[in-house]
Amino acid sequence: MAEISSFAPGRVELLGNHTDYNEGLVLSAAIHLGITVTGKGVASDRVHLQSRQIAPPWEGDLKEELRAQKIWADYPRGIAWALQKEGWAIEGFEAQFDSTLPVGAGLSSSAAIEVATAVFLCRLFHFTLSPLKLAKLCRKAENEFVGVQCGLLDQVSSLFGKKNHAIFLDCRHERIETIPFLNNTVLLVIHSGVPHALTGGEYNDRRRDCFEAARLLEVTALRDVSSEQVLQLPEGQIRKRALHITGENERVSKGVDLLREGDVCQFGALMTASHRSSQENFENSTPALDLLVELSLNQPHVYGARLTGGGFGGAIVALVPQSVAQQVAENITRTYFQRTGYSAKAVVCKIADGAR
Ligand code: ADP
Ligand code: MG
Repeated sequence: MAEISSFAPGRVELLGNHTDYNEGLVLSAAIHLGITVTGKGVASDRVHLQSRQIAPPWEGDLKEELRAQKIWADYPRGIAWALQKEGWAIEGFEAQFDSTLPVGAGLSSSAAIEVATAVFLCRLFHFTLSPLKLAKLCRKAENEFVGVQCGLLDQVSSLFGKKNHAIFLDCRHERIETIPFLNNTVLLVIHSGVPHALTGGEYNDRRRDCFEAARLLEVTALRDVSSEQVLQLPEGQIRKRALHITGENERVSKGVDLLREGDVCQFGALMTASHRSSQENFENSTPALDLLVELSLNQPHVYGARLTGGGFGGAIVALVPQSVAQQVAENITRTYFQRTGYSAKAVVCKIADGAR
C-alpha cells in the first residue's frame, strides 16, 4: 500500500490562560513546528507505532481491548480508540512519528500528535469529519483514553491555524475566528529547560477552585461573570483564582480589538498583564518563568511577555519585532544561563497554517 503522511502543528497560547474549562475565551496561534506522521495500511489487524523522538515502539492488535498504558503511544492509540467508538472502521496500519516540537514546553506536542494521527487515519481509511468534530474527537481521546483533562484549545489551534493569523476560540459556543496578526512581529517562545508537570495535581486543583468560585457566584461557569462581580467574593485563594480567569477573558476581548487596530504596544502590555495575573492570582508561574519574563521585558523592543500553556514550568512567549528576534533570543538565553545554570531553548515562531 502507498505511504501517506500528514502534519499537525503545535500552538502558542497568546492570551486566555486556563479559560477553556471555564467556558471562556482564548487567543492562540498555530506555529511552524509540529509532528509529521508517515505510514500505510497493513493487511492484518496489527498496529505498529514508532517515534523518532521517544522509545519504545508499540505494537498491538486492534481486536484487543484498548487500554491506556501510560506511554507515548497512548496518544495515537487514543485516536484509534475514539474513531472506533464513533463507529469508524479502522484496520491495521503502521505509522512513524517525527517531531520538530519540544516535548512538555507548553507548545502542545500532545495535540499535535493527536491531530496528526486523526488526519492521517481519516485519509488512510477515507473518513470525512469536519475540523471541529475532529478537534473534539482528539480532545475526547486525551480526556478519556490518555486521562488528561485538557480543553479544546490545543486541538482547535492545530486544526484551524492560519498563516499570520491569531485564532480566537469561544469555548462555550465553540465559535472560532481567525484574526490577522500584527505585522513585522514574531512570537519568541523560550522553554525554561524545566519541564512542566501538569500531572502533579496542580491543574486539577486550579479547576476545582474555579468551579468552586462559579458555585459561590451561582453561575454555570466563570465565563458568566466579570472581574467586578468576582470582587464580591471574600478575599482569599478562590477569589484570586477566579480573578485570573475573568481578567483573562477580558484581556482576550480587548486583545481582539487591539489586533484589529494593529496596536502592537497595547497588545504586548496585555500579555505582560496576563503574566502578572498568573504570578499573583493563579500562582501557576515558577521562578524560572518569572526570570525569563523579566529578562524579556528588560530587552529593548520587546512589547510584552507571559507564560504560555498550563504553567508550572514549560515556556514563555514574548512578542518581539521580527528584525531583532534572534538577537533578543540570544541575549535572554545567555543571561538566563549565567543566572541559573539552565539552558533555555529559544524558538522564533512563525505563525503558520493548521494541520494538512
Ligand atoms: P505538551 O505541552 O507538549 O503538549 P504534554 O505532556 O501534554 O506536553 O504531551 C507530551 C506527550 O506527548 C509526551 O509525553 C508524549 O507522550 C507525547 N509526544 C509528544 N511528542 C512526541 C513525539 N515526538 N513522539 C512520541 N510521543 C510524543
Ligand atoms: Mg499537552
